[in-house]
Amino acid sequence: FDQRDGWIWYDGQIVPWKDAQLHVLSHGLHYGSSVFEGERAYGGEIFKSTEHSERLKKSAQILDFEIPYTVAEIDAAKRLVLEKNGQKDAYLRPVAWRGSEMMGVAAQDNRIHLAIASWEWPSYFDPAQKMKGIRIDMAEYRRPDPATAPSAAKAAGLYMICTISKHKAERKGYADALMLDWQGRVAECTGANVFFIRDGVVHTPIADCFLDGITRRTVIDLAKRRGFGVEERRIMPEELSSFNECFITGTAAEVTPVSEIGPYRFQPGNMTRVLLEDYSAEVQPKSKAA
Ligand code: PMP
Repeated sequence: FDQRDGWIWYDGQIVPWKDAQLHVLSHGLHYGSSVFEGERAYGGEIFKSTEHSERLKKSAQILDFEIPYTVAEIDAAKRLVLEKNGQKDAYLRPVAWRGSEMMGVAAQDNRIHLAIASWEWPSYFDPAQKMKGIRIDMAEYRRPDPATAPSAAKAAGLYMICTISKHKAERKGYADALMLDWQGRVAECTGANVFFIRDGVVHTPIADCFLDGITRRTVIDLAKRRGFGVEERRIMPEELSSFNECFITGTAAEVTPVSEIGPYRFQPGNMTRVLLEDYSAEVQPKSKAA
């Protein structure tokens, strides 16, 4: 992935993709002082760009560092990367980390770096195929207690158990894994939030110890606009047998219907389809939206 053509915005410069390197003694690599974003551009416009830039700044502050660019500068840098790479529909990956000036747990004097890459990652929009739903495994690891980890940050270190869980699921033939939280309640997938539907009402766990996704909030708004009931609440895994529909949400996943989680079965239905279609309309560039 690091040897392709293209351009990356790196500490204020546009550099060739292959040259966007860092030192092996970077604090971000040794101690996990790294935060990132995942965003998508549709038709040349980055969906909720400012919200993502704000979350990136916030994630860094939670990890006790300040990204040396304003939200407006980060937004502009993202647009520049897309333009340099000649992309209209793309995935963007901003990442910020502590550099290599000091080596140790404390790193107050380390330079803060920011890089932004973009690449094509089509959202294969074949609704019929999507409506079959994906199969999800139950993860062994749980989302940590917010008293033991900075859960509100989109921090690299919080993904260690996601990668382990996703690898395990994929080895067993599943697309993803559902993680419970530290109290045994349903939390989220390894890179997406989760929703359930029963009797015309949309249910989703309260985002109090995992990422409150921008897609999650968008879908909650879309459901309310449709007049669907929305309940954010504590959901125990045993309750999954009572839901008819299930889907996951995320910038990469968008709205992806689910057919199976561990022993539980779902039949993606009309409400999932409506929300999937509303989401794909919502992300269209505002200038072109109907
Ligand atoms: N949870 C996790 C762990 C994620 O990595 C993501 C993707 N960023 C999400 C939820 C969904 O967040 P968003 O909708 O902001 O992409």
